[in-house]
Amino acid sequence: MNSDTPYALPGGSTPRPSVWKDVPDEQWNDWRWQMSHRVSTYEQLSQFIHLTPPEITALQAESRFRVEITPYFASLIDPDDPMCPVRQQVVPHARELEGFEAMMRDSLGEESHSPVPGLVHRYPDRVLMLVTTQCASYCRYCTRSRIVGDPGATFSRHQHDLQIDYIARTPQVRDVLLSGGDPLTLPPKVLEAILRRLRAIPHVEIIRIGSRVPVFLPQRITDELVNMLRQFHPLWMNIHTNHPREITPELARACARLADAGIPLGNQSVLMAGVNDHPDTIKALCQALVKIRVRPYYLYQCDLVAGSGQFRTSIAAGLEIMEALRGHTSGYAIPTYAVDLPGGGGKVPVLPNYLISMSQDRAVFRNFEGYLATYVQPTNYQRPARNKWTGAPTEEPGQKGVSSLLAGEGMVIRPEGWTGTHTRGREDDQAGTGGEAGHILNPDVISIEDIANARDVEIAPDGDEPVWARLT
Ligand code: SF4
Repeated sequence: MNSDTPYALPGGSTPRPSVWKDVPDEQWNDWRWQMSHRVSTYEQLSQFIHLTPPEITALQAESRFRVEITPYFASLIDPDDPMCPVRQQVVPHARELEGFEAMMRDSLGEESHSPVPGLVHRYPDRVLMLVTTQCASYCRYCTRSRIVGDPGATFSRHQHDLQIDYIARTPQVRDVLLSGGDPLTLPPKVLEAILRRLRAIPHVEIIRIGSRVPVFLPQRITDELVNMLRQFHPLWMNIHTNHPREITPELARACARLADAGIPLGNQSVLMAGVNDHPDTIKALCQALVKIRVRPYYLYQCDLVAGSGQFRTSIAAGLEIMEALRGHTSGYAIPTYAVDLPGGGGKVPVLPNYLISMSQDRAVFRNFEGYLATYVQPTNYQRPARNKWTGAPTEEPGQKGVSSLLAGEGMVIRPEGWTGTHTRGREDDQAGTGGEAGHILNPDVISIEDIANARDVEIAPDGDEPVWARLT
């Protein structure tokens, strides 16, 4: 039993293929040895995998995304099964060279949301900081394959400076997610310096690290690394597993080290055809994660990036999985199924519909078994106009969106060009909208004041402040 851990850590280790059976344990368990003995070529892979012709074609293609696999992760591959879920994640296949409808280079619009290189500021209060382009192994469906993997092009100290400077002068950023590439492949001193500089910024409340190193290279989660990380609490970490076969004794021990250091752990998975697109697979994965103290966080729909075409599923496949989870296992084992909207729209959760119908005083729900029940609502409930306990609301310039309509701060959100289409060429001041020309055309939320100045709208007062408006 580990002295820090009140339960027995899983013992044992993943069996090795014969090609590595004579490697001394001391070397095998050294992350530096694992990194310097990664496999990438047809010649290396064919020593322990019976490669198929499409895999050989992809391995020999010049234009393919980088291939590197740690010997540890390669040990999880079934050498005789081309459909092995571990193998498909890291061994290229000719299908990944094919394009597909709507394939994009940067499907999440990260570059257009970057005020400085490698810093994505998409949401109001948080940023994604890309600190490296290097990973321990390379996933065939990587959403950042446009920048990841090039050994000669990674983020420099100067670019880290620009990223940190932007965060320091942007007080609304309270949450920084380090990603890449994989931040845990950085030299420890470089990572420590970044964490120290971020922690020195007063408005940065939490730091998160997204890493697949515990999965590809659990040997890297040493006491020394963990002791460095624990200096920078509150620090959270998301790992990335896709299939129950990745939950090994080595990963369990790595996660125990991180969790014992007070680092809350989450997991994100990508839903992939032929890898994990069955309810039983995701349920087994999520239950196995909870057992090693990792909370399933996101199940992502595959992004529209090169290499991922072979893995894409329908949205229906994801919904069926979520239907099979809710109610059938504990909520801690249920991730949020999300589509990261193409073009930079951000993540939207997708889930089965449980609210069947609603009247003024009744809401009718169904549960996972099909049981229907009514929740009787109070008819005298009024939400508070503002929360007097938390002070002034956080400003989200231009991003309050639908919540601003519910808060009574606006009445409509119109897509760009909507007004022009619907006025059919009339002059603004003849269009019945009133207000200053151009102001009402702003695609942002239209304020109550704009509405009040319009000729066809009336404000219905509620208490001291107007909170509701209607078209006459
Ligand atoms: S570990 Fe993450 S960044 Fe690296 S190749 Fe895989 S998905 Fe891409």
